[in-house]
Amino acid sequence: MSTQHDVVIIGAGPAGSTAATIMAQKGLDVVVIEREHFPRFHIGESLLPASVRIFERLGVHEPIRKAFVHKPGGKWLYGSIEVAGDFNKSDRKASFKDHPYSYLVERSIFDQILIQRSVECGADVRFGTEVNEVITENDRIVGVKCRDEEGDTAELRARLVIDATGLRALIPSKLGLREVTQPQRMGMYCQYAARPTRDDVQAGWFVGQMFYDGWTWLLRLPEDRFSVGVVMTVDRFQKSRLSPTDLLEKMVQENDLLNHGMTLDRQRISDVMVTGNMASSSQNLAGDGWVAVGDAAYFIDPCYSSGVHLAMKSAEMVADIVSTQTATEKISSAAFDGYQKEMRSHEKSVHHMVDAFYIASRNTSVQKMVTTFQGGYLNRRFVTFVGGDFLTNSRMIRNVHQISKVVKSIFGNNAAKSPENSPLYLIDPALNQDQDGRDSNKKAA
Ligand SMILES: Cc1cc2nc3c(=O)[nH]c(=O)nc-3n(C[C@H](O)[C@H](O)[C@H](O)COP(=O)(O)OP(=O)(O)OC[C@H]3O[C@@H](n4cnc5c(N)ncnc54)[C@H](O)[C@@H]3O)c2cc1C
Repeated sequence: MSTQHDVVIIGAGPAGSTAATIMAQKGLDVVVIEREHFPRFHIGESLLPASVRIFERLGVHEPIRKAFVHKPGGKWLYGSIEVAGDFNKSDRKASFKDHPYSYLVERSIFDQILIQRSVECGADVRFGTEVNEVITENDRIVGVKCRDEEGDTAELRARLVIDATGLRALIPSKLGLREVTQPQRMGMYCQYAARPTRDDVQAGWFVGQMFYDGWTWLLRLPEDRFSVGVVMTVDRFQKSRLSPTDLLEKMVQENDLLNHGMTLDRQRISDVMVTGNMASSSQNLAGDGWVAVGDAAYFIDPCYSSGVHLAMKSAEMVADIVSTQTATEKISSAAFDGYQKEMRSHEKSVHHMVDAFYIASRNTSVQKMVTTFQGGYLNRRFVTFVGGDFLTNSRMIRNVHQISKVVKSIFGNNAAKSPENSPLYLIDPALNQDQDGRDSNKKAA
């Protein structure tokens, strides 16, 4: 069976549901195809204040406020040195000055609130249905083929297909446009039941702790549960020769934040889950008849909790563009030139800060710079960035990145000398190679 629509959206995560709600509110005929049934688990629980404006626009702020933990900010620990990003202390340019907070959410419920809103606004959402093919005619994507759990297939044609499939990036991958970004990092995560022993964790702060070329996170969920995670390079994980479960449990024993942030009667209450090879980007974010939003456009790194905000913001931009097109018009890639440009600026900006973040984990001089400036003189601008305004203060971002690179090129990866601030966890010194392939022990010697 073949049907015709204005827009088909593949994927009902935050990107897909945001686009669906806005376009359905504008009266467009929107179909969302989602392979899972909701609620379903998804990682990505720490949200940013810049997203609150989008929650308001979608009409979902109240249920989100009621369901989740209020988040006043994010905090980074370099050993005992703390760099706090208190959302109340942004600079005056911050878009979130009037709502300087966000939420720690359970994505199963959060994603359901968002997609439920899309349904209320008139979107046709089909769960348990997977898109396995795109239909191309004269180099233009004109629709998708999908299959539900009964094995029934359908062909949906549309003026535009929005790829909101997350890291799967269905269309860019099929078109050979998806690139993995180096170095490859992975996340391992699970939930624990315990009580918080740190006031900041209890108060809803996102807290992360650096170690050499990686970091851990601890954040509070409702009902005395925690999200616990570790991010490190794939290479280092492989060299550890541990399973993800053994590795994460070892980190909970050895990492200061995880070990001392929860009561000792803690119990792991979920399997350890893994997202491998997560950093990736699509060469083009749009073509004739299609556009990619959210992680399907790119994903950089979870360290600044930027993923859900960029997913919702990209979807909002696309929905606003589509809503201004005349109803009969086919939508060409040129309509998304401005979108692509803006998304690339966000990507570059977040990349710069992520690079500096990992350089700081490996280099004591950069660590000093980051903790001194981001925690002091530059704190308000840093807060504006970590609140989700990635394009504000772009000069500061460029400078932090450039100075980090210069300092690193002079001193190398020397943080191993400072085990208190950058423990080496799981690195076998005999095998140790840094990100640039040099021997970091030699470098430090
Ligand atoms: C370890 C880790 C920690 C993270 N922590 C954070 C954090 O604290 N804060 C934050 O903001 N972000 C975080 N992120 C990132 C965040 O998870 C993503 O950026 C966000 O979920 C992207 O939303 P999305 O809608 O683009 O994709 P997704 O949320 O992944 O949704 C994509 C949807 O598409 C569906 N789908 C895929 N393929 C098909 C198909 N062929 N047919 C039909 N449906 C399909 C999937 O089932 C899924 O429901 C983290 C990521 C990782 C890896």
